[in-house]
Amino acid sequence: MKDIYRINWETNPTCNEDCTFCFATFNLPRETGAVGEGTENFRSPLNTLEAKMLIDSAHEIGAKEFLFGGGDPFIRKDMPDLIGYADELGLKTIVDTNCLILATREGLLEAVAPHIGRIGIPFDGSDPKTNDYMRSKQGAYRKQLKVLRASESYDYEVKVNTIVTKQNAKSIPDIARLLADSKVDRWSLDQFIPQGRGETNARKYSIDDSDYFAVVEAAKEVAAQVGATFEISGGDIETKTGTVLMFSPQGVAYIPDCSDKLYIGSIRYMTLRKILQAATHFDAGKHMRRYVE
Ligand code: SF4
Repeated sequence: MKDIYRINWETNPTCNEDCTFCFATFNLPRETGAVGEGTENFRSPLNTLEAKMLIDSAHEIGAKEFLFGGGDPFIRKDMPDLIGYADELGLKTIVDTNCLILATREGLLEAVAPHIGRIGIPFDGSDPKTNDYMRSKQGAYRKQLKVLRASESYDYEVKVNTIVTKQNAKSIPDIARLLADSKVDRWSLDQFIPQGRGETNARKYSIDDSDYFAVVEAAKEVAAQVGATFEISGGDIETKTGTVLMFSPQGVAYIPDCSDKLYIGSIRYMTLRKILQAATHFDAGKHMRRYVE
């Protein structure tokens, strides 16, 4: 069987932000060709028990990390329970959140923090105007910053995620100044991928490879100037292709492949082992090099 280190689950079919570059799966396409398509519950989000079964499966096949991604995980009321469940099994939990709920719901961060291995916080501009324009939400920057600052009190790692597009390219290097005096372990600069909502807006956001790599270099220069100690990693489209096993909110496994999502099957109708066997476009070696080395 192919080795796998991390399972990614997009937790929600809705989001409280409306980022038009977003690659998340909200509703499945009309035809996926995936095992289970046409069954009654194929298009319904995983309930708590089913989500726990997915987490169990990840643990049983030897994955070490389980990522809870957007739409914002905390829209789900059961998210603290699910994060705690994965943590108890010994999986490193990674929670990618836009911070809208986490910054405002009393006691939530405090409750989940002991069970989080790493939090992912977005910054898509170095100033509120650019960031909030990118994320289509006024006040988003302030909430992201609030969670970033609050994270200094907890043991989990902090990773900042930035999507590099034609629209925010100029603003990105200066994000390094903002992050330099915060507790940040890693800053990930990912090239825009035209998937999900992003596919509709591909012309607006697409950035060619040379411009993307120039932004990453400029960001590294500013980070060095300000004495930042965090690691900077990049992910162009090619690096990502075939390296991630994703599950949609409905529990349908797919492999992101450039501008496509290659659907395999529903976790309700296939074991994770069978899904991995059928994932011909999943490059386990590339996956392990990306996440382990
Ligand atoms: S990028 Fe994240 S926060 Fe924005 S719409 Fe997509 S899932 Fe929601």
